[in-house]
Amino acid sequence: MTDREAPIGSAGEFALIEELFHRDRSRPADVHAGIGDDAALLAHGGEEDWVAAVDTVEEGVHALPGGDAAALGWKAVAVNVSDLAAMGARPRHALLAASLPRDLSRERAGRLADGLHEALAAWGIALVGGDTVATPGPLALSLTLLGRVAPERALRRDGARPGDTVYVTGTLGDAAAGLELLRGPPTDWLPAYDLLVERHLRPRPPLAYGQGIAGVASAAIDVSDGLLADLRHLAAASGVGIELDTARLPLSAPMGEWSWATGRDPLPLALSGGEDFELVFAAGEEAFEGIHRAKYESDTRFTPIGRVVADRPGEVFGEGVPGEGGGYDHFPGEERGGA
Ligand code: ADP
Ligand code: MG
Repeated sequence: MTDREAPIGSAGEFALIEELFHRDRSRPADVHAGIGDDAALLAHGGEEDWVAAVDTVEEGVHALPGGDAAALGWKAVAVNVSDLAAMGARPRHALLAASLPRDLSRERAGRLADGLHEALAAWGIALVGGDTVATPGPLALSLTLLGRVAPERALRRDGARPGDTVYVTGTLGDAAAGLELLRGPPTDWLPAYDLLVERHLRPRPPLAYGQGIAGVASAAIDVSDGLLADLRHLAAASGVGIELDTARLPLSAPMGEWSWATGRDPLPLALSGGEDFELVFAAGEEAFEGIHRAKYESDTRFTPIGRVVADRPGEVFGEGVPGEGGGYDHFPGEERGGA
């Protein structure tokens, strides 16, 4: 089989994006950030930029088949809110492309809509348009989220500087543990079951905290594919290395209970589990007061987990940190090993 005949299945998600979609490297003057950040920043003559992000959730990929449809509706909004949080932006308007199997029951369709509207209301987002099609494939929702942020305050991936400390909000690995609990044999006797499963089903990105550190932190990205994979994007965009202190990765009490009950090490899930929808950010000493003020104002905890260095650009390293792989890739190559 020649290279051109080979299927794209193992091409690597980010290589595919570069090859197929990131063809035009020139950036029009009104595009302040585009392909390669969590959301696009678009100038329109006002003091603030428009912010735009689109993310898709599909049954069987982002949720177990036949699972709670309300959770899928919630997630379609939450995953996009997470990208706007990573820019320090305020979400405002949404467009929804809904691909619905014809045999979807009215009951599940109603649950889907309930979860969707619950999330829109939770973050004050107005649904202003979209598209609805019948699909022979699985249920999928693709939501475009629009918002605002002042360009000089926006949190980009490329601003980390040597000497900055790297921080992460909340705790890591809970959503991945929740998904394993849903997939595995019944363990709902476990007191932590509901909490971990909820983290998988209904992520709550720290939007207020992201807005609070806009103009304060030097760079940020949301943890969607897994801490390591996302930190590597931030390191590459900023042209720096990141030394991670894995002993400091924040783990929740429910995660501790999961580890005790299953006999499993929580570290791989914390490093690579994905779908944490926390924020990982870099900030210098001058930002110390600002990142703490935002913490108290939004009631969001954060933990220092590493530091930014000038050497090894694009790499994330440290004791117990795998050199390659370790993150969700929709088109995993053999040596990349997507989760
Ligand atoms: P995120 O996880 O923050 O949503 P992704 O990892 O999905 O971002 O994508 C990486 C970057 O590539 C983002 O800037 C995204 O907008 C861009 N991107 C992904 N798919 C496409 C596409 N089909 N066309 C154009 N840009 C894309
Ligand atoms: Mg993102």
